[in-house]
Amino acid sequence: MKRLFTRKILILIVLVLAGAHYAHAQETKLKWLGHAAFSITTPNGKVLLIDPWLRNPVNPDAKDGKDPLISISKVDYILLTHGHRDHVGDAVDIAKKTGASLIANPELAGNLVKLTDFPAKQAQDYIMQMGGEIQIADGEVTVAMTEAVHSSSVFNPKAGPNEPERAYGGSPAGFVIMIRNGPTIYHTGDTAYFKDMDVIGESYSIDVALMNISQMGIKLSVRAAQSLRTKLVVPMHFGTFPGLLTSADGFATEIKKVKIGVYEMKPGETVVFKGKQMIGKK
Ligand SMILES: [Zn+2]
Repeated sequence: MKRLFTRKILILIVLVLAGAHYAHAQETKLKWLGHAAFSITTPNGKVLLIDPWLRNPVNPDAKDGKDPLISISKVDYILLTHGHRDHVGDAVDIAKKTGASLIANPELAGNLVKLTDFPAKQAQDYIMQMGGEIQIADGEVTVAMTEAVHSSSVFNPKAGPNEPERAYGGSPAGFVIMIRNGPTIYHTGDTAYFKDMDVIGESYSIDVALMNISQMGIKLSVRAAQSLRTKLVVPMHFGTFPGLLTSADGFATEIKKVKIGVYEMKPGETVVFKGKQMIGKK
């Protein structure tokens, strides 16, 4: 009798632990590393890094002479919206350290390999253009590359005194990232507002839009959020260097007037999603 009771208790403990593990496994984590840099950890534990300029001045991990790359150990994919230095950032060092695969257009990928020593083997399997979608992370994540109205070029550290210091970077882009058992996240890249954001909003059910409010300006950032039909906006790409909006407060005031959710993340902060719902901070 006593043995049977002990067995029942054991089974119960195993079930509770399995349940806790399952609940934890269904979480998606989104971390803002400052500027346009975000990391996404999927329910299955895959790590995506978007526009990884981690040594930016507002990343708390880069302050007081700290090297933010020390705490970066696992990255599976690096997504680059375009070739400008505040977006390519530390992609080469991170790729070398983690073995992460590059998701970018072929011109940007090719010139990063040729001019900045990005590991060639990590810049071949997930090269894409706008249109269509690719599956990554064993099918857990689907990525669509979307239009962006901006420019793109790759800084060429090997350029001689009479050569252009910027090489071709293909077309700038944004990304829609659809996570199984997680949210659909749209990263605008550095785009200005464009009317076809309506099409992106019709085509995808966006839960969170990571929006470059400096590039669009406050008025058109609000318009963009409406076009995208996003449930939540996280403003980004402000307060990093002169010429950008210094804060997201003005935008937050305006977006609330049209009844779209806004969450002002702090650089270094992580938010957690259960399914498509943001359930809190970590
Ligand atoms: Zn930028």
